[in-house]
Amino acid sequence: MGNNTNDTKIFFREELLKWNAFHNDRSLPWKGIDNPYFIWLSEIILQQTRAEQGLPYYLKFTEHYPTVNDLANAEEDEVMKLWQGLGYYSRARNLHAAAKYIASEKAGEFPDTYDEIIKLKGVGPYTAAAIASFAFKLPHAVVDGNVYRVLSRFFGIEQAIDSTKGKKEFAVLAQELIDKDEPASYNQAIMDFGAKQCSPAKPNCMYCPFVHRCSAFMEGKTAILPFKEKKIKKKERFFVYVVLKEEGQFLIKKRLEPGIWQNLYDFSLIETEKHCEEAELNQLLNNRLEGYEFETVKCSKAYIHILTHQKIHVRFLTVDIKGQYKQDYRKVETENLKRYAFPKVIINFFEDEGINV
Ligand code: SF4
Repeated sequence: MGNNTNDTKIFFREELLKWNAFHNDRSLPWKGIDNPYFIWLSEIILQQTRAEQGLPYYLKFTEHYPTVNDLANAEEDEVMKLWQGLGYYSRARNLHAAAKYIASEKAGEFPDTYDEIIKLKGVGPYTAAAIASFAFKLPHAVVDGNVYRVLSRFFGIEQAIDSTKGKKEFAVLAQELIDKDEPASYNQAIMDFGAKQCSPAKPNCMYCPFVHRCSAFMEGKTAILPFKEKKIKKKERFFVYVVLKEEGQFLIKKRLEPGIWQNLYDFSLIETEKHCEEAELNQLLNNRLEGYEFETVKCSKAYIHILTHQKIHVRFLTVDIKGQYKQDYRKVETENLKRYAFPKVIINFFEDEGINV
């Protein structure tokens, strides 16, 4: 069932812009600006992060790196350290790589077409449309979770938003709806409307300008739209971190392998198939440290770290070790740990140990 005649589309566009005129919120520093570099930074930060959580990171990045060239010239460890705690670290690596590309290939000029913007590392269709419309006033419609929700409810679209067909249908409709003269206001309006008015759990239908023409409201389907085909099943993983200490100093190493936490620092890692009992842990430790003289100091509580597709169970075994351990480990005094970027679960562990990183 759908509700997308031309007349309905015009009504939707006009009412949305009217709603925006009343609810236009410029309280966040990236709203209403046209600096493409700052808009790009904010969009990457907000990709997996709520605005309140992302705000201090946006302020830190714009202060440390006021131009794209400043970001390009920064040390990778410094960029990762500034990103520490925000998660999904590939965003920081991609930001840095794209800044280097803009500095070296575009003479520091931020690309000003959708096709060029989408070539930047870490930039997908949503982010490219946001930058193109906010910074350059180009008519490219954003399609994110808010947009899927608003469109599926108002127009009564029951196509799953995570199916290829559904994605295409929503993208075409969004592009038809965008106001060609005011693409920035339109894009901001639909995202804000989705966040504030047509929210996931409790849409404010009573005071909604669309209520008399909204398919979901009229058919009692607000709770079930938008449809999704698949439920994400999280993969369970079990990590045992061996926190090696040599003469009171921590042995840490940079994670170079692709995957989660790449380029952050961690400890010697043992991954297992399931939870291990103490005897099994001791056996694993003996295997890992074969040939070294060591003493287990303590085993931590279990920590759980949740990512989009993974649930990671982590325990930390603190071990005093004698003699020179492997070359790729850095020996770091406790007070110097704060110079390195660690995954959140390791920061939590350090905090529980009374160590501020
Ligand atoms: S009436 Fe309710 S469901 Fe429909 S657009 Fe408004 S807030 Fe969303």
